[in-house]
Amino acid sequence: MQHPTYTKEERFDAATVEQLKHHYEAILRLVGEDPAREGLVKTPERVAKAMSFLTKGYDEDPLAILRSAMFREEYKQMVLVKDIELYSMCEHHMLPFYGKAHVAYIPDGRITGLSKIARVVESFARRLQVQERLTVQIRDCIQEALSPMGVAVVIEASHMCMQMRGIEKQQSATTTSAFTGIFLSDHRTREEFMTLISHRYR
Ligand SMILES: [Zn+2]
Repeated sequence: MQHPTYTKEERFDAATVEQLKHHYEAILRLVGEDPAREGLVKTPERVAKAMSFLTKGYDEDPLAILRSAMFREEYKQMVLVKDIELYSMCEHHMLPFYGKAHVAYIPDGRITGLSKIARVVESFARRLQVQERLTVQIRDCIQEALSPMGVAVVIEASHMCMQMRGIEKQQSATTTSAFTGIFLSDHRTREEFMTLISHRYR
């Protein structure tokens, strides 16, 4: 069977990195540093490349990623991918938030590759985000691509903007969730999902 393929684009666009580099040089000066100091000479370029990597999701198409690996299948039980490592950046402070995503869906004739679920999470996470929107975007993308009987997404994350700036308790984690279909209408299905993701070690 032939499925449309999705080609991943690496963005280390030289012109963008070059421009970012100059801005980071200016930032170093503004915070009181000397960009010419030995340890910092290559820092603006490194940060420029790091920032390009951390925002590479803008150049990816999560729907296309899912559609590149869709298969007809009559399986109608819950498919759960849990503990997907997640690294994102809050759009308010441009500081990292990180944690785990748990994603489940109940197929209705179509399934996707399990690794593609993780790639969808990655694609939306590698942008400036708020955790709430990230959760909903992942849910909606899977719902749109697969039209399953339901989708469930839970994200648990720690926000460096809270931890480093000491506004809230240092160890606090934020949990967000988003559901569609049977996960909304049938509380037993939702509870089964919640139980499955709360068992850290089977
Ligand atoms: Zn923040």
